[in-house]
Amino acid sequence: MTRNEQNMVKTTSKTSIVVPFLNEEENLPVLYERLKVVFDNASEYAEFLFIDDGSTDTSFQGLEKLRATDPRIRILQFSRNFGHQAAITAGLDHATGDAVIIMDADLQDPPEVLPDLLAKWREGFEVVYAVRRKRDGEGAIKKFLAASFYRVFRAMCSVDVPVDAGDFRLLDRKVVEALNGLRETHRYMRAMTSWVGFKQCAVEYDRAERFAGETKYPIWKSAKLAWDGLTSFSAKPLQWMMNAGLVVALIAAVMAFRIVWLKLSGADHLVTGWASQSVLILFLGGVQLAGIGLLGQYISRIFDESKNRPLYLLRSSKEGFSS
Ligand code: UDP
Ligand code: MG
Repeated sequence: MTRNEQNMVKTTSKTSIVVPFLNEEENLPVLYERLKVVFDNASEYAEFLFIDDGSTDTSFQGLEKLRATDPRIRILQFSRNFGHQAAITAGLDHATGDAVIIMDADLQDPPEVLPDLLAKWREGFEVVYAVRRKRDGEGAIKKFLAASFYRVFRAMCSVDVPVDAGDFRLLDRKVVEALNGLRETHRYMRAMTSWVGFKQCAVEYDRAERFAGETKYPIWKSAKLAWDGLTSFSAKPLQWMMNAGLVVALIAAVMAFRIVWLKLSGADHLVTGWASQSVLILFLGGVQLAGIGLLGQYISRIFDESKNRPLYLLRSSKEGFSS
């Protein structure tokens, strides 16, 4: 080995590209081609780690064919659909790179942005998250809800989650190790990466349209993720519920005083007001039920944690063919 080659071995780092996917048969070959263009002439080694989150189309078979031609491709196959966040977790558990980049399979996160993320990492940043400058091809309602949610989340949770950043980001090995230590069941990875700290910075990019296929995040799934995020990072809803209870109790006390006052001052029309009373009873019943329901949400999360189940199960783990 010449001196130059020795230096190469010492200085060349490895980048893992973690791609969770669910039924993306049309997107994966195109994504692979674009990743190839970026990494074929790059100075660092790369591994492309695909996580099949229970696909029922031919995505896996297509990738298997590609794996036979490129030793950089690794595939983890889940035993069923465990969800995007679990798939990211599996990717981080199995990635071996010095830097790990998480990206979607539908080409909304353009592979051409990866060199920008890597450049920031080489400058010394340990988390480089990609922030959406604009979102193409997403409905106005989804955009509005997403923008509002990020703002509400920041206001409610003591964790400083960057506004308009998804899961598309680069993590240094140190950060990956830190995240691998967090095994909570209800996972909101983008907030967890903020929680671990480290030197973070943003790179702006234009979020493209989904290349092919349908979104795998219908609005109810996004709402569930948002709720998981809020409840695992903030106990504020419980506090608000308590405050609402106190306010209602205060109103009731004022009304009780009023009734006593009217009685003492000799009023004889106290039988009126049934309608308002039944409204009050219903209102209080509703507030109480909502309060108990909210409490139940937190308790069910304790229940899930106490079961301590694995976050995902693998049917197979296909390594790059040369290793
Ligand atoms: N995905 C996944 N498991 C799921 C849902 C989605 O692995 O249960 C993947 C999906 O294939 C894609 C990424 O997560 O690579 C983001 O999903 P999608 O593009 O459908 O979400 P959107 O961009 O519409 O919010
Ligand atoms: Mg998408």
